[in-house]
Amino acid sequence: MKPKVYFKTFGCRTNLYDSQAMIGALKDYAVTLNEDEADVVVLNSCTVTNGADTHVRSYISKLEKKSNAKLFLTGCGAHTKGDSLLKEGRVHGVFGQSEKLKINTLLSKENSFYELGDLNYVDESIVDNFVGKSRAFIKIQEGCDFRCSYCIIPFVRGDARSINEDKIIEQITRLALNGFGEFVLSGTNVGSYGKDTKSSIAKLTKKISQIRGVRRIRLGSIEPIQVTDEFKEILDEPWLEKHLHIALQHTSPTMLKLMNRRNMYNQDRELFEFLSDKGFAIGTDFITGHPGESESIWDEAVKNIYQLPLTHLHAFTYSKRDNTPSSTMKPQINAKLAKTRLHEIENIIDEKNYNFRKNLNLPLETLIENKIEKNLYQGFDQYFNKIIIKSDENLVGNWVDISNYKIQKGNNYAQL
Ligand code: SF4
Repeated sequence: MKPKVYFKTFGCRTNLYDSQAMIGALKDYAVTLNEDEADVVVLNSCTVTNGADTHVRSYISKLEKKSNAKLFLTGCGAHTKGDSLLKEGRVHGVFGQSEKLKINTLLSKENSFYELGDLNYVDESIVDNFVGKSRAFIKIQEGCDFRCSYCIIPFVRGDARSINEDKIIEQITRLALNGFGEFVLSGTNVGSYGKDTKSSIAKLTKKISQIRGVRRIRLGSIEPIQVTDEFKEILDEPWLEKHLHIALQHTSPTMLKLMNRRNMYNQDRELFEFLSDKGFAIGTDFITGHPGESESIWDEAVKNIYQLPLTHLHAFTYSKRDNTPSSTMKPQINAKLAKTRLHEIENIIDEKNYNFRKNLNLPLETLIENKIEKNLYQGFDQYFNKIIIKSDENLVGNWVDISNYKIQKGNNYAQL
C-alpha cells in the first residue's frame, strides 16, 4: 500500500494552487484528507506575518503530540523559518516552491535536506483537477514588483513574472473538459500579469473566455492602478464575475504614504464609483493598526470608507513582519485597538453589503460549492455573495439561477 500524504495548506490561493500541483505530481504516495491517518505531512506554509509563522509552529507542535508522521516544509515559510525548523529536527526536509514538482522524489529522501531552489523560476506545472473543489484556482503569475512597507512577500516570492500563456490555456482547457466552469485567476499580484510578456490581464481573460466550458472568470486581488482603459473594456463581458476585489489596504492618504502604497484615495473613490455604476460588487483588503495610525488618521479613514461603494471586505489587523520597513516604524498600535478598528469597519461593510443585496433585482447565478450539513448547501453568486440553500437533492457542482430567496444580514437563503 502506498504511504499516505496529508497536505496542510496555510495562507493564500497561490499556496492552494501549489498544493494541487504537488498532489498532481505524486506517484508513489496516496493523498489523504485525514491528517490522523497520514504517514507524511506536507506543510505548505505562509509567512506573511510573524503570526503566520507562529501558526505553522503551533501546528507542528500539535502534530508532534499525536502523530509520528514525517514532516516536510514548503511554501513561503520555507524561506524564513525552514532553516531553524530543520536544525531543530522538527521537519525532515525543506523545499522551495520552485522544487514542488519534484515532490515525489523529495518525500522519499532518507536524509534530511534543505532545497530552496530558485526564487525567480516561472511555474510550468499544470493542474488538471482540484480535489474537493467546484471552482478551479489557476495560478497565472508569481511575485510582486510593489514594495509595500509592511509586506515580506516580494522577498519570499520574488519579483513579478507571468506564467506562459499557452500553459494557462492548456490547463483551463483540461479543467473545463473535467467539468469545471468557474476559474479563479490567482497569483501574488494578479493585475501585473503580462508586464513581462507584452500581454495583460485583459488580453488573457478574453482568451480564456473563448475556451469551451468556461462560464465565469473571477480575478484574485488586483490593484487600483491595474484597472486600465484596456481592462475597462472587459467590464461588460458576461463571463466576467460582477465582483472585483481591488486592494486598497487603507483609505487615509497619510497612511497610504506610510505604507508605501501606489494607490491614492481620491482616485480610488472615482474608480469605485465608476465600477459601482456599472453594477459591480466591490471588495477590498484593509489593514488596521499599522504603526502610525493615529486617532485622526483613523477618523479620516472611516469617513472615507463610508464614501466608498464597497460590498466586501478582507480586513486584517496589522501584524509585525520582521525585516520590513513597517516593523521599525513608531508608534506601534495596541493590538486591542487595532481589533476594535477592524470590527468597526467590518460592521460598516456588512451593512453596505446587506443594502447592496436588497437592491439587486437579477437572478443570482449560483455555483454550488459544497454541502454544509445534511440537506444544506452553500454557493456563491455572480456578486460573490454567499447563498445557503436547502435541498433534498445533491447540488454540489451545479449552477442554478435563483430568483426566489430571502435576504438576511450576512447571507442570502433559498429552498430548491
Ligand atoms: S502589492 Fe504590496 S501587499 Fe501585495 S504582495 Fe505586493 S508588496 Fe505585498
